[in-house]
Amino acid sequence: MQPALPLLAAFAGVLGLLVGSFLNVVIYRLPLMMEREWREQCRALFPGSDAAAPAAGPADTAAFNLFVPRSGCPACKAQIKARHNIPLFGWLWLRGRCAACGVAIPLRYPVIEALSGLVSAYLVWRFGYTVDAAAAVLVSWALIALTVIDLDHQLLPDTITVPLLWAGLLFQLLAAPHAPTSPFAASLSDAVIGAMAGYLSLWLVYQGFRLATGKEGMGYGDFKLFAALLAWLGYQMFLPILLLSAVTGAVTGIALIVLGRHGRREPIPFGPYLAAAGFVAMAWGEALLTAVPFLRVFPPAG
Ligand SMILES: [Zn+2]
Repeated sequence: MQPALPLLAAFAGVLGLLVGSFLNVVIYRLPLMMEREWREQCRALFPGSDAAAPAAGPADTAAFNLFVPRSGCPACKAQIKARHNIPLFGWLWLRGRCAACGVAIPLRYPVIEALSGLVSAYLVWRFGYTVDAAAAVLVSWALIALTVIDLDHQLLPDTITVPLLWAGLLFQLLAAPHAPTSPFAASLSDAVIGAMAGYLSLWLVYQGFRLATGKEGMGYGDFKLFAALLAWLGYQMFLPILLLSAVTGAVTGIALIVLGRHGRREPIPFGPYLAAAGFVAMAWGEALLTAVPFLRVFPPAG
């Protein structure tokens, strides 16, 4: 262990908290930005249609992106003071209430910040002072944003999944071959085959399911996310991620239906399970393959 590792992990944890605060903004605003864009396209294509009518929320003409306007209270619109905007601690300091109007600030904001901080610190602790650790932290941030957006909206935005996929291929192009302890694909060809296998496999499941039942079980976002994960991790992680996400997704889905928390016909987002399985494969993939040898069916392409 490098002597400075605890310090480096602590630094990554603080950075993760700050980025977690930004992830909250992405999670809240990106779907709204996409909705505004769709409405604009509707207005251009079908003037006068219902979909083209302005919806509740920020006016369509005002600037609205990840940086403008500044964060405010969703209830009273009061801008959040800098000292209350400190990740995690701002929420604790205010005991979870808006400083201006006292409305409760959902627990998910500090939870996402804390999760981002913990995951960032852990990955640096795990992979040390390496490019791999930095890349793993970046991937985990994207996975957190995708998970919560999919839970909220049954949507995996292209603006996150597609860059994540290209970034994975670019990373392999520049950084492969990696150290043997690396969580990432052993070679560029492992990454390219992984991306293709990830997309194609879920696309086939989707088409088969649609032919058999007439329903859409997944979305194209799921194919892109699986492709992105395997572009980073290589096709050797195909089976571990597929089995982990399918089993946890099915168990959770059945439990929610049995407990009456979820209608039988409501779509269940698959993205969160893919993202979680992808994280497990990235953080503990080698240990997983050692513990469950039948998962190691695909040898490295070399
Ligand atoms: Zn307020």
